[in-house]
Amino acid sequence: MNHLSRILYASRSSVGVGEAELNDILEVSRKKNKLLQITGILCTGGGHFIQILEGPQDELIRLYCRILDDRRHYDSVLIGVAPIQQRIFKDWSMGYIENPPHIMEAHRNQLLEIWRGRTEAHQLFTLMREFLDQLGR
Ligand code: FAD
Repeated sequence: MNHLSRILYASRSSVGVGEAELNDILEVSRKKNKLLQITGILCTGGGHFIQILEGPQDELIRLYCRILDDRRHYDSVLIGVAPIQQRIFKDWSMGYIENPPHIMEAHRNQLLEIWRGRTEAHQLFTLMREFLDQLGR
């Protein structure tokens, strides 16, 4: 069975990755994700990426492996992968949020704390709702 799942990871953008590279990533992502029934968001700022991807588990894992191999980012930390009942970002093949560097730094640190098990995992959900609210603006 190909269950619906969600992946969240944080990474750092490689040297030389600017607006043009980012636009390229977004354009390809939106096209490919639609075909694969994958939804989610990409947050950037201050040299950080945070991405949430939702979709059928097999396609999701395959896509995540492909992204992991992409040299436009590095130091990727998989914060979580879990089955879900419904999508949070159902209207977004790849929503995009640009945050100030200090906000992204704080989000990455918060995610690493969750990953290390020092912070309650439900805070992940709060962060995702925050991202969703930002997309709605
Ligand atoms: P190709 O473009 O032929 O890719 C072949 C390989 O080269 C892949 O491993 C790819 O990762 C890598 N690659 C491609 N272009 C570059 C480049 N300019 N510099 C360095 N390496 C490169 N793709 C999606 O489909 N959906 C997403 O949600 C998504 N999110 C991404 C988030 C981030 C932070 C990054 C960095 C990339 C993301 N991508 C996403 C792009 C993804 O990594 C692939 O480039 C894309 O899916 C096309 O892969 P491909 O194998 O079909 O083709």
